[in-house]
Amino acid sequence: MTDAAHDPEADRWNHRPDDLVTLNPVFSWPLNPRAILRWYSGAWLQITALTVCFAISVMVYVLFLPPLEVMQSFAFGWMFTIWLINMVPQTLVAGGLHWWLYIRRGQDMKTKFDRRDLARNNGTFTFNNQVLDNIWWTLGSAMTVATVYQWVIFWAMANGFVPTITFASAPVWFMAWMFFIPMWSGLHFYWVHRLEHHPKLYKHVHAVHHRNVNVGPWSGISNHWFENCMYFTTYFVHLVVASHPLHVLFHIYFQQISPVLSHSGFEKLIPKDQPAARAGDFFHQLHHRYFECNYGTSEIPFDRWFGTYHDGTADATERTRAYKKQMYTR
Ligand SMILES: [Zn+2]
Ligand SMILES: [Zn+2]
Repeated sequence: MTDAAHDPEADRWNHRPDDLVTLNPVFSWPLNPRAILRWYSGAWLQITALTVCFAISVMVYVLFLPPLEVMQSFAFGWMFTIWLINMVPQTLVAGGLHWWLYIRRGQDMKTKFDRRDLARNNGTFTFNNQVLDNIWWTLGSAMTVATVYQWVIFWAMANGFVPTITFASAPVWFMAWMFFIPMWSGLHFYWVHRLEHHPKLYKHVHAVHHRNVNVGPWSGISNHWFENCMYFTTYFVHLVVASHPLHVLFHIYFQQISPVLSHSGFEKLIPKDQPAARAGDFFHQLHHRYFECNYGTSEIPFDRWFGTYHDGTADATERTRAYKKQMYTR
């Protein structure tokens, strides 16, 4: 491993995490039970994207989700509620994080990956402004597509067209499926994302997301319409796999709100002196800087299996640049 003090890659960042990018140890051989326990307790027993999304889904299920009987036929009331349960949490989390990190500058540059501020007066972005661009593609494009897909899923569940469960009818499956949803999401994301990096699709579609080389909370799902149409097909798994409405909600928030945290641009949230929560994801931050690496998530190590894993070192940057060159000169 290269010494960080002499690693040219270190100079490219304001903050680079001490541990290089780690991957889920479940897929490392021989199995290391301690590392696996640390990985999953780190994800489920602290304030993380996963636990925040789970808490939001429970709250929305208890307080706001219309009962399935109400969703048996398409009607304005419940369909509008579904749109709101997408829009309101997204706006509160992305808006709140953006306010704390970039307007109030509550923790200044502490654990901020990139030295630069978000772009203004830049013609690359819709409205010449990165934040307004990202808000438009999130609340306009992403929320619309996500809501339409969810209308279909809830309507199908309400009518018994797809297998549904209750906690009492299948408690073990209920818990297991909740646990596997992030993994399913990671698997689906990897393949859709890989496809979007095909040079043609990239140029016309995925480039909208990659305008953000330096990312902020609103960049999370700031995607082109066509990208959103593909990205949110992940929800259609609930048309096949027996689910409870709470599974759908957890999937929704994991898919829509965890990218807000992972694109926040900061590794940790530090409300006072001590870090209170993990936020940013250096694994994906590297994807935004170097493009042709880390297509997946650290949940399932597809990138290591297929040779596109960037662990944050200078060697990996060299490898990624060479790979990109051959991709575009073929
Ligand atoms: Zn990408
Ligand atoms: Zn991204």
